[in-house]
Amino acid sequence: MTRSPVWHPFTQHALEPPMKRIVATEGAYLTDENGHRMLDAISSWWVITHGHRHPTIMQAIRTATETYDQIIFAEYTHAPAEQLARGLIEIAPAGLQHVFYSDSGSTAVEVALKMALGYFHNSGTPRNRIVVMEHGYHGDTIGTMSTGARGVFNAAYEPLLFGVDQLPFPEPGDEQATLAAFETYCKSGGVAALLIEPLVLGAGGMKMYDAKVLAGLKEIASRYGCLFIADEVMTGWGRTGAMFACEQAGILPDIMCTSKGLTGGALPLAATLCTGEIFDAHLSTDRRKTFFHSSSYTANPIACAAAVANLEVWRTEPVGERIHGIGQFHRTRLSRFEGDKRFANIRQAGTIAALDLKVPAGGYLAEVGPRMRALFRERGLLIRPLGNVIYLMPPYCVSESDLDRAYDAIDEVASTVLGQG
Ligand SMILES: *Cc1c(COP(=O)(O)O)cnc(C)c1O
Repeated sequence: MTRSPVWHPFTQHALEPPMKRIVATEGAYLTDENGHRMLDAISSWWVITHGHRHPTIMQAIRTATETYDQIIFAEYTHAPAEQLARGLIEIAPAGLQHVFYSDSGSTAVEVALKMALGYFHNSGTPRNRIVVMEHGYHGDTIGTMSTGARGVFNAAYEPLLFGVDQLPFPEPGDEQATLAAFETYCKSGGVAALLIEPLVLGAGGMKMYDAKVLAGLKEIASRYGCLFIADEVMTGWGRTGAMFACEQAGILPDIMCTSKGLTGGALPLAATLCTGEIFDAHLSTDRRKTFFHSSSYTANPIACAAAVANLEVWRTEPVGERIHGIGQFHRTRLSRFEGDKRFANIRQAGTIAALDLKVPAGGYLAEVGPRMRALFRERGLLIRPLGNVIYLMPPYCVSESDLDRAYDAIDEVASTVLGQG
């Protein structure tokens, strides 16, 4: 067979086995070309919330295609975008009153950064410093890489990345250091915004921190007139147990980014929500104050219709109960690993469970992820550890027996990799 021209994301083609071809998806499962079913225990990179091909969402997509394709979104609007914006405002933290559409998590964050700088620029009090948290991840564009953790993933692009101020990760018991660092940055002036993943730093290794830290950071931001940008791209749509993670800290962000679960994972779409104050700073008879951002596929009507259907699923199905059940199941199975010498930092937030495999030091770490991935795959499980961090983030339709199987596999795979099995 000739080699495929496709260049896959985050894939070292010289080391990876050939890509497995998926021919169908349903519920919590992917089916490959040999008819083998794989449990999608990471929701296809965190996007699938209710399950693959939820009937309500797929029907809404079919219906939308009878009427729409892409429609220019400057000068024109359409019902799916209008309906979705109203629906989002209704469920989002109070104070968020406007919705700007784009098409991925990265673009939602880029939009947020531009809104923040635009707000201060248009108000005649320019500020341009961005504060972020250590181990953060906000996307893979040059702008969002600049705000994320630096490392092997962006070393080649480093010369183009802009500087940001970084807060230490709030390790348990040392949260005060994070708050103090933020206050110091704010005091020194020019801080436009804090950009942060609330409660869980996803790509940075499913690192979890206390809601009190978020509340503390928000309090400081408000005191210094610095905007609070919640990157809820991963944490939104129930992942941490609440609709949006910010709710758990009782905070109201000035800007909120959402994408992954916005359409239930069926189609690409993103939204950046902001307060009336930020919108108003761009509202002027002076055209120079316009918010200068657009992408060709802004507010794609079919994607918006899928997102409207997602809202309907949340309204009409016991999604909260499913999430609660998954959380309880995680706690039960994780408790069996407490005190297990193979694991450290056993943690959970809502539907997300994570634990670190204690790998002996010495260059071995980089190989451990791919090795575990292959062992999980052999067992019919899609689980992609982040280095030595094993995590589960299943779609909400997952069954207890599926989760049981995933935990049994973690047990086995950990022993195999550590050479104890
Ligand atoms: C995935 C992710 C992004 C980037 O989203 P894309 O759709 O992949 O561009 C941004 N922020 C967070 C917190 C994410 O998890």
